[in-house]
Amino acid sequence: MAKYQDAVCRLCRREGAKLFLKGTRCYSEKCAISRREYAPGQHGQGRIKLSDYGLQLREKQKLKRIYCVLERQFRRYFKIAEKSKGVTGEVLLQLLERRLDNVIQRAGFAPSGAEARQMVAHRHVKVNGRTVDIPSYSVKIGDSIKVVGKEKTIKHIKDNIERTKDKGSPKWMEADLNNLEAKIIKLPAREDIGFPIQEQLIVELYSK
Ligand code: SF4
Repeated sequence: MAKYQDAVCRLCRREGAKLFLKGTRCYSEKCAISRREYAPGQHGQGRIKLSDYGLQLREKQKLKRIYCVLERQFRRYFKIAEKSKGVTGEVLLQLLERRLDNVIQRAGFAPSGAEARQMVAHRHVKVNGRTVDIPSYSVKIGDSIKVVGKEKTIKHIKDNIERTKDKGSPKWMEADLNNLEAKIIKLPAREDIGFPIQEQLIVELYSK
């Protein structure tokens, strides 16, 4: 996974939305987007009218950043969604939402996508009793997820949970923050996606 080296808060300000890229800081009043609600850069405070293409592109960038996926992987998800029987945009969101790293973040075990991905890659996550170190692993109904690790790691995770516990977890899973466990009780539906995204714009972009 490539890393974006610039200050991550600029990405949120660019997209005009909280993308939760910086761990526990995102849940505090230090969040940059709460303090400066305009795009970064010299012309950030000016009004730039985007073309239809520009709007579609921005929406795609926003979604990629929320789930921390690169273009190639994102296109792969889109192709799967396009071939499915469901509504393409909604299936795309569901595929992204079902990623194991996202589940770890949504359950509340990690404050950002980057930390969640690291937990998976460092073998701190078990699915149905077996270690899974692939962040893109797609969870299914009935999967049991458990976070494991040495005392120091668990303490760090629990400290983070304490700082972010108010955000709650989505309805499609049951999260037990005390025991660092979660169970997938249904697949995520469109209304379970808790951030503003116009997926239709992305479908239009790729359908050109
Ligand atoms: Fe920075 Fe997090 Fe706020 Fe985004 S949500 S601006 S990453 S602190």
